[in-house]
Amino acid sequence: MAAGDITPEMSDRAIVRRSDRHQVVIIGSGFGGLFGTKALRKADVDVTMIAKTTHHLFQPLLYQVATGILSEGEIAPPTREVLANQENAQVLLGEVTTVDLENRLITSHVLGRELVTPYDSLIVAAGAGQSYFGNDHFAEFAPGMKSIDDALELRGRIFGAFEMAELGASRGENVDHLLTFVVVGAGPTGVEMAGQIAELAHRTLTRDFRAITTRKARVILVDAAPQVLPPFGAKLGKWTQEKLEKLGVEVMLGALVSQVDERGLVVKYKDGTEKRIDAVAKVWAAGVQANALGKQLSAQTGAPLDRAGRIAVNPDLTLPGYPEVFVVGDMISLDNLPGVAQVAIQGAKYAAKEIDGRLKGKPAQSPFKYFDKGSMAIISRFRAVAMVGRLRLTGVIAWLMWLVVHLFYITGFKNQFTAVLHWLISFIGTGRSERTSTEQQIFARVALQRLARGATDLVSQPGEFDDAERRRAELEAQAAEEARLSDENKRGVKV
Ligand SMILES: Cc1cc2nc3c(=O)[nH]c(=O)nc-3n(C[C@H](O)[C@H](O)[C@H](O)COP(=O)(O)OP(=O)(O)OC[C@H]3O[C@@H](n4cnc5c(N)ncnc54)[C@H](O)[C@@H]3O)c2cc1C
Repeated sequence: MAAGDITPEMSDRAIVRRSDRHQVVIIGSGFGGLFGTKALRKADVDVTMIAKTTHHLFQPLLYQVATGILSEGEIAPPTREVLANQENAQVLLGEVTTVDLENRLITSHVLGRELVTPYDSLIVAAGAGQSYFGNDHFAEFAPGMKSIDDALELRGRIFGAFEMAELGASRGENVDHLLTFVVVGAGPTGVEMAGQIAELAHRTLTRDFRAITTRKARVILVDAAPQVLPPFGAKLGKWTQEKLEKLGVEVMLGALVSQVDERGLVVKYKDGTEKRIDAVAKVWAAGVQANALGKQLSAQTGAPLDRAGRIAVNPDLTLPGYPEVFVVGDMISLDNLPGVAQVAIQGAKYAAKEIDGRLKGKPAQSPFKYFDKGSMAIISRFRAVAMVGRLRLTGVIAWLMWLVVHLFYITGFKNQFTAVLHWLISFIGTGRSERTSTEQQIFARVALQRLARGATDLVSQPGEFDDAERRRAELEAQAAEEARLSDENKRGVKV
């Protein structure tokens, strides 16, 4: 069987090749997926981007959706709209479940519908998810921060905790557990979340409640590591911790989370002592696990996975024995590259250039080289830390830099414009434009997980509706026969 051929058994679920042109399939619509697709806009290829969401997510601003500054649409524009003018690109919704390297076929599913897509070249950019370090049951009570669903759920949980506290206080109850917020993980995401919850409690919400004093809320940042923001070095870590503490955040270091339940969590120190913190609203920003597709690719190629599930790729980002398959971004383990957007963007552009170059008969590029443009983390309004080369910046300058860089990378002028408006409202004023939250936002994830096949259980399956129509026809025929027997006085007559 030739690569990409469809066997007869597959034919009912397969899509045909879009044309005789070289077919590129890209898995994922994140930084790697979107920038890879765009980089192929002038190439003589058909690009099919398969992703399990219909949007391109700007993850660095998820915490602002969770804390009511930005709307989800501002950081997650529809991929279809972003690529509307790129004629060689098609977007397909679906979760890729199987990558068949031997036959060059990708199988994806959405709501029980299966699709098989052939490829000539493949770019895998499926990113990473949250890691609970083997304690996945923590997720029920401490959502991570990886998707729009996560951010909206957290928004519901954070603002919901203040609501429940107001209610409880009005009934004369102790509400300390509702006014205690715990963020697990003192990396950039954890620092940003803790800083924003502190700003909510101490600045934004102070005039909105009657029975509670939001200023008394506790915000606790927990990490097993001995310092805040380890990748930023000891000095910036110390500066950040001081600023967080000034903002009212309690920083608990060397504290490993050992239990999480609905009402709180337990942390364990190196000396074995344990401490329970009663807190209903918890945020998990601690660990990262590369996408499970890495495991499949590793099994088929022998390329090893590291502890975070990242796959070792060749220096040109291809898989051993499969030069037509590139893996980019958070899924790869190469030269200790960090899990940041620029690694995914630059890797995807490199892969796209290589695919285009091969079709044009150009020699292979030299190995992939990452250009570090710097890292930043925001602590609160007007305070951030930044590392650019050997330069270390703190305070307003770093914050302004953060503002400009993030604005530049938000996709679409419309979103850039409204983001600036919302930042003015939140940073200069005290308001938050996007505080809407609903009960469904908070509980839908857990409810869906309790269904055997998730949302698939809630929709009809292909063919099922045809069955219903057939049954309807049978029932109609039966009713007509009953009526005829009565109308023609044929009941009780010997047949
Ligand atoms: C909260 C947060 C804050 C961050 N802040 C920063 C920051 O300030 N600066 C920075 O540089 N980096 C930051 N990062 C990291 C950065 O976002 C990632 O490094 C980057 O998104 C990696 O790009 P990627 O393309 O590899 O994966 P992603 O951008 O995660 O994209 C993965 C894509 O694959 C899709 N997908 C996953 N599985 C499947 C499947 N089975 N089938 C089909 N599609 C699938 C997903 O839906 C998604 O579209 C942050 C990350 C998070 C979570």
